[in-house]
Amino acid sequence: MGGQAAYDVVRERYEDVRSDLEAMNGWLFENPETGYEEHRACGLLADFLAGHGFEVTPKAYGLETAFRATIGSGRLKVALCAEYDALPVVGHACGHNLIATTALGAAHALAPLVGELDVTLTLYGTPGEENRGGKAEMLAAGAFKDDDLALMVHPAPVDVLDPGFLAMAHLDVGFGGVASHAAMAPDKGVNALDAMVNAYVAVSLLRQQIPDDARIHGVITEGGESANVIPAATRSEWYVRARRSSTLVGLLERVEQCFLGAAQATGCTSSVESAAPAYDDLVTDPVLSSYFRDAAARHGRTMRPAHLGEVHGSSDMGNVSKVVPTIHPLLALGEGVPNHDPRFAELTITDDGHRLLRDGAMMMAETIVDAALARYRSADD
Ligand SMILES: [Zn+2]
Ligand SMILES: [Zn+2]
Repeated sequence: MGGQAAYDVVRERYEDVRSDLEAMNGWLFENPETGYEEHRACGLLADFLAGHGFEVTPKAYGLETAFRATIGSGRLKVALCAEYDALPVVGHACGHNLIATTALGAAHALAPLVGELDVTLTLYGTPGEENRGGKAEMLAAGAFKDDDLALMVHPAPVDVLDPGFLAMAHLDVGFGGVASHAAMAPDKGVNALDAMVNAYVAVSLLRQQIPDDARIHGVITEGGESANVIPAATRSEWYVRARRSSTLVGLLERVEQCFLGAAQATGCTSSVESAAPAYDDLVTDPVLSSYFRDAAARHGRTMRPAHLGEVHGSSDMGNVSKVVPTIHPLLALGEGVPNHDPRFAELTITDDGHRLLRDGAMMMAETIVDAALARYRSADD
């Protein structure tokens, strides 16, 4: 079978489930679930795959809201990743409903070809991308270890072939002091909010002296209960990001010094803990990426490379990219509304969102066709 004949099959297969996929995308939008709480989303996607001939393992790799769906037994082992976690308050403002449905669309479209293409296709349901590092946990439990290639797409304001995802650490930071009457006995108190404010200011000053493409941002999640009680405990959440996992280590040490210094200055205790596994920077596979760029051109999209120093956040797909040749292109949705803006969620269910769904699914399916026909990364190469 030639490339065009295979593309024709996948395009036709997509049309068979187009309305189901658009409906699932809308359902996910209407019913957002945050990281590791995606029970209904996980069930919906797994049921669709089980109903279309995939062998489904629910609660895969020890995670309640992960799953694994496989079809075929060919030599080229290909992984597709479906994310489906939403954000607190702003729902699917990162467009993970489209990530899930593009992956399903690609998998369903390719299913009848896996024998002829000599492919084993595995769709991983990967929970908690935003806050829990689900893929890192799945990797640690053995996911992806047999795969030759891994693919997913992500909605964004722009089409970018090789996004500059930063390595990232996610920290929980707390300070402990002593409560006291704020007016009657302030001298008896040890103020954990003072420690937090000190830490926030120290990190803010540190930001002037870090590389342009590093990022540090935090929120105070507990700042005390009452203005007339010296706060005895405060908590905060921080993301520390650097261009490479190797440079993240040094930056983390500098940030931790800010927390320790704040504790020392105020007489508080401090605790700095990881809230999730660290995310690696993304390494894009150039060959797979070139197949994807060509597929995009066939569907009227021009994928541009990331500009030097351009930052697109972070993803636990970075961890996958360190062990499996990976692509994670960004596909444009709307005109200039950034991810995590509530308006971005609304865009996912428009005609433009549905176009992205079809494009993303077809471009991933055709990329896999090209890789299989070229015997790229096949076991006997
Ligand atoms: Zn996001
Ligand atoms: Zn996202």
